[in-house]
Amino acid sequence: MELGDHGRGCLLGLAVGDALGAAVEFKPPGTFTPVTTFRGDGPHGLAPGEWTDDTSMALALADSIAHSGWDLNDQASRYLAWRNQGAYSVNGTCFDIGMTTNAALKKFADTGDAINSGDRSEHSSGNGSIMRLAPVPIRYAGWIDTDLDGLSRYAAESSITTHASPQCVSACRYFAFLLAGLINGRSRDEVLAPDWPPLRELRQIEPLHSEVEAVANGSFRKLSPPVIQGTGYVVKSLEAALWAVHAAEDFREAVLRAVNLGDDADTTGAVCGQLAGACWGESGIPGEWITGLARKDMLEVALRGLSTTGA
Ligand code: MG
Ligand code: MG
Repeated sequence: MELGDHGRGCLLGLAVGDALGAAVEFKPPGTFTPVTTFRGDGPHGLAPGEWTDDTSMALALADSIAHSGWDLNDQASRYLAWRNQGAYSVNGTCFDIGMTTNAALKKFADTGDAINSGDRSEHSSGNGSIMRLAPVPIRYAGWIDTDLDGLSRYAAESSITTHASPQCVSACRYFAFLLAGLINGRSRDEVLAPDWPPLRELRQIEPLHSEVEAVANGSFRKLSPPVIQGTGYVVKSLEAALWAVHAAEDFREAVLRAVNLGDDADTTGAVCGQLAGACWGESGIPGEWITGLARKDMLEVALRGLSTTGA
């Protein structure tokens, strides 16, 4: 099975949003010249079009699905190869890693038990698992029609290897449904409706965390910055991505709205980029951003792997 335009757009959009935001990561909103295209520097001293841990972890997850099917210990092993050896990195080293991810991978290195490596406490509710989610809804997009339980379970499990808090798990379950719906041809307005039938089903499988439920109910339509924020908190990232996409004309407008929130700009960009890419497809991503992405070959390997494996 070949991936379609919207499946490809979901992963490429993640990398584009990550690369656009990397230049202004950690900068408070309003303190930098607004991002309009790829630019160099930023805290990691990257070249224009280079991407960060968000994309590296997504590539590791895609590679695991391609080679091992669904195996959480294999997923964590590949994250560890990135952390320790720089596998899946744009420049061969792991130059940034979130605290919760780092702690979980240390624990996994000691125990070999990925299911129990991620921190379950609510105060460890960073955006480190939603930022890399794309390979799950890309590979299993068809389950939005046939196996909502399976899609919910894989989205949750993909989070718990590093981020096992209720907010992180809920955010990934909800976001996977949005992405799978868009990849499978549903419209933006359809999937973002609070009463979208698969969303109603998702709540039946297990209720969403109250803060994620508030987003799914449409908080992003009523709020604007500074309440909308691109911080490292998973619920804020999710809400910012939906705020950026729901009223945008196109991919470019959505992702630039997201990264120009500053703060954790690369990750807000990566989360928004997954959604915008699944919505408008690869064909909706500006051509100069597709050609300007660093190590596009690594992204193509991941896309190939996601298109050919069996469920
Ligand atoms: Mg990053
Ligand atoms: Mg980040």
